[in-house]
Amino acid sequence: MSVIFSAHRCTWCGDCVGVCPFGLIRLEGERLLIEEGCNFCGACVEVCAPGALALPEEEAPAARPETPPDGVWVFAEQRLGKLAPVSLELLGEARRLAEVLGVPVAAALLGREVAHLAPALSAGGAHKVYLAEHPALAHFTEAAYAAALTELARRFRPEIILAGATYLGRAFIPQVAAALKTGLTADCTAFAIAPGPRLLLQTRPAFGGNIMATIITPRTYPQMATARPGVFKPLPAPPEAAGEVIRVDLDLPEAAGRCRFVRTVEEIRERVPLAEAEVIVAGGRGLKDAKHFRLLEELADALGGAVGATRAAVDAGWISYAHQIGQTGKTVAPRLYIAAGISGASQHLVGMQSSDFIVAINRDPEAPIFQVADVGLVGDLFEIIPALIQEIRKGRG
Ligand SMILES: Cc1cc2nc3c(=O)[nH]c(=O)nc-3n(C[C@H](O)[C@H](O)[C@H](O)COP(=O)(O)OP(=O)(O)OC[C@H]3O[C@@H](n4cnc5c(N)ncnc54)[C@H](O)[C@@H]3O)c2cc1C
Repeated sequence: MSVIFSAHRCTWCGDCVGVCPFGLIRLEGERLLIEEGCNFCGACVEVCAPGALALPEEEAPAARPETPPDGVWVFAEQRLGKLAPVSLELLGEARRLAEVLGVPVAAALLGREVAHLAPALSAGGAHKVYLAEHPALAHFTEAAYAAALTELARRFRPEIILAGATYLGRAFIPQVAAALKTGLTADCTAFAIAPGPRLLLQTRPAFGGNIMATIITPRTYPQMATARPGVFKPLPAPPEAAGEVIRVDLDLPEAAGRCRFVRTVEEIRERVPLAEAEVIVAGGRGLKDAKHFRLLEELADALGGAVGATRAAVDAGWISYAHQIGQTGKTVAPRLYIAAGISGASQHLVGMQSSDFIVAINRDPEAPIFQVADVGLVGDLFEIIPALIQEIRKGRG
């Protein structure tokens, strides 16, 4: 089955070619070729002025809803009154998308006594902050947060909602999407806007990470997606960073759903957590043994950083999964990333290549990690790392 093409109506303008998000349409002289793989998003049909293209009846939406008025939203995640860094990262990305669409950016801020976070959201690029304070939102519970965000989205009708793929986002954002009867793409690593139909192109790894899939939500609003922390960078504050704060009263039950808040237990962390570390020293199979991770810990301690690892090192049982960086581990973007004995497989690179400065230590000069490194040290890590530690300690007296 394919899009229905009426050659007698076609003016061969080629507008449909450029608008197909998947590049499936080609124009060869006076022949229009539509390759297999169409998911009937309707972008070509919409742009075709002479009406030469149509969706097959069973694929045609009853009526495409009109574009909602309220632009791009970011769920402003906070815990204990502190903004999660992913909120500002997503605001940066939302600004980029909103500029293409010509719409405003808004943040949805839920909690109790969280109004003090609104200026940071404005500085991050939110033209509007929807502030919903309610006793039921004092501590995170899926049902209360889902009810609140669903209600806000119903009232103000955003075109797009982005949220962090954090424990919290993963827990309740699917409930919001289900309540709004729309789609949701989880764990995205890139976004773009398809010209013409204003579709959000949501890219994420699929099939165990072996391909990157671009997913669209062509028939329902809002278009919803989550993205992993660390994938996007916050942008510097825009010149006119005074967003409007819109207080919204919500009628929420005191205790909604099956979960009940009991108490907060602060996690005890001995080392700097990977996602927040400004310096990461990561090791791979080149370390050869679990005991050699001690060397990386020493270097990380000297630099005030954290220790990361490749999946090869984790699978070998040398270090726990919590340290794994990459497609099936954590995504990080520290100021300094030192990769020791790591070859640079694409699945590892995807989790660390947005680091500000990358130093690679590998004895194989052809190792792919050198292609993303700012500084490459070709040599034996067991000689280079002790020398580095010594130099750093000497430098610090
Ligand atoms: C679906 C899928 C998901 C995956 N997810 C992840 C993921 O999240 N994270 C991840 O990291 N991988 C992931 N992988 C695995 C990935 O493909 C690679 O196998 C892995 O990253 C390789 O780890 P490595 O670089 O430690 O090992 P290797 O590729 O074996 O590289 C070891 C490197 O150490 C160097 N070396 C050896 N001895 C020394 C020495 N003495 N001094 C200096 N250098 C030395 C070698 O030259 C070599 O380049 C995934 C794979 C798949 C299929």
